[in-house]
Amino acid sequence: MDIDMESDGESSESSENQALGCPEEACAVTFDLNIPPMHTYLGSNFEALRGRTLLDVGVCMHLPLLVKESVMLFPGQTLPMTVIDRPTKDMLMTCINNNRTLGVVCSGHDKMASIGTTAEIYECMYKDPAQGFHLKAKGRQRFKIIRVAIKGHDKIGATVRILPEITLGPPFLDERLAPLDHLRIHPTTEEDFKKQEKVENLDAAVTPWPAWVYRQYDPLRLSLKIRQHLQFIEDRGSTIPEDPTDLSFWVAQNVLLDDNERVVLLNDDCAISRLQKEIKYLVDDKIFVCCECNSYIGKRSNMFPMSKEGPQGTYCNPNGIILDTVTLYHAQGLKLSRSPPTTEYTWFPGYAWTIASCNNCGIQLGWKFTAVEQHLKPRSFWGLTRKSLKSKKKNAN
Ligand SMILES: [Zn+2]
Repeated sequence: MDIDMESDGESSESSENQALGCPEEACAVTFDLNIPPMHTYLGSNFEALRGRTLLDVGVCMHLPLLVKESVMLFPGQTLPMTVIDRPTKDMLMTCINNNRTLGVVCSGHDKMASIGTTAEIYECMYKDPAQGFHLKAKGRQRFKIIRVAIKGHDKIGATVRILPEITLGPPFLDERLAPLDHLRIHPTTEEDFKKQEKVENLDAAVTPWPAWVYRQYDPLRLSLKIRQHLQFIEDRGSTIPEDPTDLSFWVAQNVLLDDNERVVLLNDDCAISRLQKEIKYLVDDKIFVCCECNSYIGKRSNMFPMSKEGPQGTYCNPNGIILDTVTLYHAQGLKLSRSPPTTEYTWFPGYAWTIASCNNCGIQLGWKFTAVEQHLKPRSFWGLTRKSLKSKKKNAN
């Protein structure tokens, strides 16, 4: 898969006709959603690295950094890498021989974010030393950059401070009135929360604030709201975390947000403030437009998961370029390269890809994936890169 590949001509395609067209069909997926998170296109002889590194919160330490444009990692997210260049290879080899942990920091417009996430390498595969090697890493803990250290050409590291992840329980945890304990339940549905309101109103009577203020800071209520907004993704086969902290990172990774919005979310120390911001992003069914010319391409409700991990996954191409890619069952305003579809290095085994570009300005937005195996459903879908799309409110300029 090559984002820089030149097409030898392009055919204009009425994507409306080519797309699946209806959510019902998009739901009837026979593709095994467990395959993409394994990143099988990287090869099959990975060596598992044992152990788990948990860094002490608040501690200052030196971390080697991987700084890439538009590449941001959230805790829990999988990061596949193909590493070709020598300095990065050396840096990662040192990492593997130490605690297997590096820092991933997003850059853009010649500026590096001051916050990042540690990535723990859990699998690696050495190929021909001249070709480099493949790795898989998992996002673990957030950190703040204290001081950047550049040693020699391209070798970058930093002194960082590991940030806390503050978990707050439901409000009234300390204020609750013991005589009401027999009326309390563990709420999971909207009806449960409604029932609990009466008890909460009594709890709040002995506090300085009315109950509705506390409800805005209830991680379980916020999580339920988010899950209601994203029910269509769960219905289409993805696993959405229940734990408020995991959910807050999952949303940050899977909802199409630009780099600045993602940095804001990564800066929060607590799931509650992250979830509050995410609900605001999710209120409207945002539309996706070409980042270059603002042509309409699709909308959030066209997203569907082709991976158990969610509708937006991080994949890499043979040149080592890391691409956040969102899968849509319907998109428009795209034209396809005339090159025949190919299954080479495909992120979705059983599907061949063709480069898809903006019909208006011509920049590459991603790929159309077409099933090459008879039994596979959907028969086709779009994989578009996060950095090539902007998410906007309907009717916004
Ligand atoms: Zn365009």
